Amino acid sequence: MLSITCYGGVGEIGGNKVLLEDSDTRLFFDFGFPFKKRARYFEEFLNPRPGAGLLDLLETGLIPPLKGILREDLASKTLWQKFASSPLYRELSIDGVLLTHAHVDHSGYISFLRDDIPIYTSTTTAFVSKAMQDSAPPNFEREVCYSLPKGPKKGYLRSAGTYKPRPFAFIDRSALSTEAQTFWYSSPRRKKPLSTEMYLCAPEKIGNLKLKSFPVDHSIPGATAFAVETSSGWVGYTGDLRFHGRSSHESEYFVEEMHKLQPHILLCEGTRLRESRGASEDEAFNNCLEAVKKAEGLVVADFGARNVERLVSFYNIARETDRKFVIMGKDAYLLDAMHLASDKVPSIDQFPDILIFKDFKSRLPSWEKEIHRHYEDKLISPAEVRENAYNLILCFSFWDVLDLVDIAPKGGTYIYSSSEVFDEEGAMDMFRLTNWIEHFGMKGIGLPREKLNWDIPEEEKGYHSSGHACGADLLDLIRRINPKILIPIHTEDPGYFIDNLRGTGIDVCPPVEGEMMTFPAN
Ligand SMILES: [Zn+2]
Repeated sequence: MLSITCYGGVGEIGGNKVLLEDSDTRLFFDFGFPFKKRARYFEEFLNPRPGAGLLDLLETGLIPPLKGILREDLASKTLWQKFASSPLYRELSIDGVLLTHAHVDHSGYISFLRDDIPIYTSTTTAFVSKAMQDSAPPNFEREVCYSLPKGPKKGYLRSAGTYKPRPFAFIDRSALSTEAQTFWYSSPRRKKPLSTEMYLCAPEKIGNLKLKSFPVDHSIPGATAFAVETSSGWVGYTGDLRFHGRSSHESEYFVEEMHKLQPHILLCEGTRLRESRGASEDEAFNNCLEAVKKAEGLVVADFGARNVERLVSFYNIARETDRKFVIMGKDAYLLDAMHLASDKVPSIDQFPDILIFKDFKSRLPSWEKEIHRHYEDKLISPAEVRENAYNLILCFSFWDVLDLVDIAPKGGTYIYSSSEVFDEEGAMDMFRLTNWIEHFGMKGIGLPREKLNWDIPEEEKGYHSSGHACGADLLDLIRRINPKILIPIHTEDPGYFIDNLRGTGIDVCPPVEGEMMTFPAN
């Protein structure tokens, strides 16, 4: 019998962890980092202790107490005695995780899964995740592609051994090129590659269940929706998606193909249900172009470089306004990784007007040294940025803001082309960003404002295009796919679906965290 249990993404945006079980196959749809739930207990200077392993995460319910799927090296001898009586405790083994995309609210807590559990995903999602992990400081909550085993020493857990890659199943590739393998097994901080672990290509099944995957349009390349054939019929899972980006045809194709499967169940996201569609990627391009045309001095464009559509937009805006486009070393590394995974992402050499910001750092990690060596003729120092401020667009984000101290810009324009503020922590970041922008005498455009409760002024909303479909688009998707049952996930507002799908014959079943829903066989 088919059963589905949601351990995350219930009443919250992100943190998706959906367990699907059918006879002898068990799998998870995503295993994400729960931002909102985590913020209930932790903040910048109060984090789960790496030396305590799984303890703090189980104590606060950030990961479910499922013995058998979580890392044993992060479990002290007495850990499971403590949690064996908790209501959600279960012993479990799984065949794999179907990972929809590389945003950490979907991928992050793979970190805590056993390192022999295969991760089924697109090559682009795998490579973006690896580039993100390589280029960030070590963090035991971000060990998605490879993990550092730990062992007990004097009552707490310490690193023991070297990084171990997780087994990945690349769903859209029949083989990896030698270059791609070299990247996949490169170690972020040392010359010696990671120990090689088998990977799978183009799997047709997960466990004993037939698997289908569909690329979809989202604010990160490689995003994928899945369908799994169970004893109750097909079960579809949207992941995150939209219909107003440049790959909207992919989302459309997913809807058509999913409809043909006549699915019994659809798990659908619901991030922006009561909002309007907002600017399309093309509209955001036009608005940002007009802003850059009017700008004097340095232009800073704030967005995540993982959003390649936006990156290409700003690159083209730079060309149209006779500016060069400066990206960070980590963005160059990410672009290289994406290009290795898919020809759809252009290589850096295909962008003749790209420059790479030369960071002030005493000691560079090996991946960054390699970027500096490979693109030596493209490097630009902070002083050169200052001198050529009128001829540049700088691709930055809040986290790079200290580089502005080295640049010391005199005025200029800061275009905020990034996502909405969702929580208090985001509001604090925005408060600090606003102060930095004022500190450098820059003009901010598209910024959320404190006096609007951290909303963006209406007239400045078109500088960003959301990665998520609005409610009307999702209702249309659901009606067209026409599943028998809809399970809303990744939403704070499941009632929206109940209200709006009444009378359609589609049964809306909002999940309860940790509660198993069972479905009789067809
Ligand atoms: Zn996402």
